[in-house]
Amino acid sequence: MIVDELLRVEGHPNISAIGDGARVPNEATPDRPDPPTSQHALRQARRLAKNLSGRPKPYRYRMLGQVATLGRYRGIADVFGIRLRGFPGWFVTRTYHLYQLPLLSRKLRVVTDWTVSLLFRRDIAELGMLGHTKPVGDG
Ligand SMILES: Cc1cc2nc3c(=O)[nH]c(=O)nc-3n(C[C@H](O)[C@H](O)[C@H](O)COP(=O)(O)OP(=O)(O)OC[C@H]3O[C@@H](n4cnc5c(N)ncnc54)[C@H](O)[C@@H]3O)c2cc1C
Repeated sequence: MIVDELLRVEGHPNISAIGDGARVPNEATPDRPDPPTSQHALRQARRLAKNLSGRPKPYRYRMLGQVATLGRYRGIADVFGIRLRGFPGWFVTRTYHLYQLPLLSRKLRVVTDWTVSLLFRRDIAELGMLGHTKPVGDG
């Protein structure tokens, strides 16, 4: 969906769209629309919520950096123009993800899990490998 600066779908002013399914113009980067990332979708959602509940303003978000993990203890981070790689990149990425998690209880669960996994080898059990249980009475 193509949307305008107030996140309204082109030709349908009463319908809004954001996130990966929308081509969203950003006042902070007028030469290109937002990339399809979670950090942009979240900011678009906040702007849209404010627009729907108050006086609409154009969407504007200036990205401060990007981070990514590249396996165990390795990562890359570009924050405020400072580039990190390897362990420092991984640490910054993990810290940022922790910061972004909602609720203190969830942060504590995750940081506990991360701390425990520092002491052991990689957990090879994955729920996705368990398959699906058969419905009762199905052979
Ligand atoms: C492998 C991968 C890694 C990524 N890593 C990062 C990252 O590190 N950082 C980052 O910022 N972004 C990352 N992204 C991008 C990020 O996931 C997306 O930009 C973000 O999830 C977009 O949010 P959204 O709400 O627009 O869409 P989605 O998160 O895709 O949500 C859309 C939802 O709508 C549901 N849906 C679809 N069709 C229907 C229907 N007909 N009826 C009802 N529900 C429906 C879907 O099931 C889904 O739950 C990654 C994406 C991928 C695929």
